Amino acid sequence: MKVLKFGGSSVADATCISRVLDIVEAAAAGDRVVLVLSAIKGCTDALIEAGRLPAGERDRALAPMYLRHRDIIDRLFTGDQARDAIEEVCALLDAAAAEPDGDTCQTYGELLSTRIVDRKLTLEGNRTAWLDSRELIVRDNPDESYARICKAVESRPDVKIFVAPGFVASDASGRVCTLGRGGSDLSAALYAAALDAESLQIWTDVPGVMTTNPREVPAARTIEAMSYDLAFRMAENGAKVLYAPTVLPARKAGIDITILDTFHPDGGSTVISAGAGAPGGAFSGICRMGGKLYLAAEGGIDTAWEEAACLRTLERAGIEGKVLEAAGDHILLEVPEGNATLALKALHMEFFEKESNTVEIYLAGFGAVGSALCELLESNAERIEAQSGARFVLKAVARHESEDDALMEALMKPGSARKVFVDCTNSKTIYHYYIPVLEAGVDIVSSNRRALAVPYAEYASIKAAALRSGAALRYETTVGTSLPMLGPLATAASGGDRIRSLEAVVSCTLNRIFSSGEDFCAALKKAHAEGLTEKDPRTDLGGVDALRKLLILSREAGIPLDADDVEIKPVLPEEYFEGSVEEFYRRLEAAAPKFGTDLRFVASLVADPAAPKGYKAFIGVRAVGPDHPARTITGTDNAIIMYSDFHTSPLVIRGSGEGARGAAASVLHDILR
Ligand code: ASP
Ligand code: MG
Repeated sequence: MKVLKFGGSSVADATCISRVLDIVEAAAAGDRVVLVLSAIKGCTDALIEAGRLPAGERDRALAPMYLRHRDIIDRLFTGDQARDAIEEVCALLDAAAAEPDGDTCQTYGELLSTRIVDRKLTLEGNRTAWLDSRELIVRDNPDESYARICKAVESRPDVKIFVAPGFVASDASGRVCTLGRGGSDLSAALYAAALDAESLQIWTDVPGVMTTNPREVPAARTIEAMSYDLAFRMAENGAKVLYAPTVLPARKAGIDITILDTFHPDGGSTVISAGAGAPGGAFSGICRMGGKLYLAAEGGIDTAWEEAACLRTLERAGIEGKVLEAAGDHILLEVPEGNATLALKALHMEFFEKESNTVEIYLAGFGAVGSALCELLESNAERIEAQSGARFVLKAVARHESEDDALMEALMKPGSARKVFVDCTNSKTIYHYYIPVLEAGVDIVSSNRRALAVPYAEYASIKAAALRSGAALRYETTVGTSLPMLGPLATAASGGDRIRSLEAVVSCTLNRIFSSGEDFCAALKKAHAEGLTEKDPRTDLGGVDALRKLLILSREAGIPLDADDVEIKPVLPEEYFEGSVEEFYRRLEAAAPKFGTDLRFVASLVADPAAPKGYKAFIGVRAVGPDHPARTITGTDNAIIMYSDFHTSPLVIRGSGEGARGAAASVLHDILR
């Protein structure tokens, strides 16, 4: 069994009704159908008006309704058929005019429309039966209604199309009543639930439930799927397309509600079901009732963030507004009623028309850099948006490795927004996610140098994945933190320049210790305490960190360097690298090495045709003469010094190279560009 309901403009005139008949007959080709109709457009309003007059004085008020129904009949019927139909219309209108209780007048609109359509369907050779909803539907008593409906339908196994008036019912005492304005939708849901229908279709004059009222905001779009809960809340808060109580019997019976456009059956539709339509975290639509604007979501929205975005949008539109409610599945705003449409337009523009400009950020790692990035994103949201035209939303954060899988799952869900995976971890395994992420078309921004310093073959396949998918892979922060070191190397490489030599002073820790001239052990402990070194400071001293940076720098310059190609001379002899950190400090105190202030810890590449990759790579302590550009680099500054075919006097990029905020700013820059 299928239940189809048509209302409003779908039943405005004969042309519309012909369309309805086509749709119904097509549906009835495969299945039995209950056709629920509302009154022809404007009829209920006219009947309510007429009902306010005393019984003897309603004729004049009802005359236009006579003419409209007659016009429909004249177009759908001829001869005797037309005469009989007109007679029936007259009888019904006379009965309406004579109703002692004027309120009952409004129940005739649906009787008129369904009687005409029932006649026409029969005339066309369909086996039809008219169901009197006044007898079958008992208001507020679904169980009784279901029993009566089933009995009526079961007694007519020969019938293909049942035609039933919507809106009308009887109350517990048996008096005729209505189900409330817009109640035909509910009638249809009750028929569907009673008959365990396989489909419940509400045919109207818009292509489904839309992101907002298309009459106020022409850019409104169809929402293809949504949960019962969301549909109910939207209908309750002003979405006129559906009568809210309709959802309840459908949900209880587990019947999907499909909302379609009679005039554009292929122009879009909405399926309301138990599953959520849109993923949580974003708004699905905006409804309006007077000055109250209800921004509806399936759930999971970042309330503080969205609340701020709403207020910012209103402020930009010059509208004073306040937040009345903010919850995980909605925000309710209030604006002066005179500005409500304007506010609706601005909010719709912000949350729906710019959706392609929304960039969703999925962040792994919530250490110093990750948390600084979140702060930057939040405090600069407005500036970022003004500058980039995009809205950056922090969708998910994995604060710990154990949350990475969940982050990935959220990230891989299909969606229309641009997505960026941001790796602010220090993990040596997270790079395994890079290829699938890139293949899903998601950009990656990383400050995790371990992920880019993996063996060259793996690095190359990550790069290839980015190239194939067109997704961006950016990691400027991995070397020299906020200094733009990789960009110029990539430019040189792709522009056909050839590096002659590259020297990188990229170890803040060692550089500061050497240039300070302080006692090595004390200076190292101090740097350690300030968090400038790795947990085990020997990672810095052993050159492991510098190695990673040199690998990234070289590869950026097009040189396929691997760890084996690099000669490393640790700052301290081998025995210092054995045992615990405590033992290490004890050993240092006992036999402190002395270093001159002319020393720098340098990672270098020098063109050498005899070397396997064409370059000799070396990491270690080097004395730099007074004229060497590295000599003036002190404190925690970083630098690269490059000579190439084009740069015969050195290209020097230097500056302050540490700090979580600088790193976060650099990550943000990679996200934005
Ligand atoms: N005709 C009724 C009304 O206008 C019921 C409906 O259209 O759903 O309220
Ligand atoms: Mg309606």
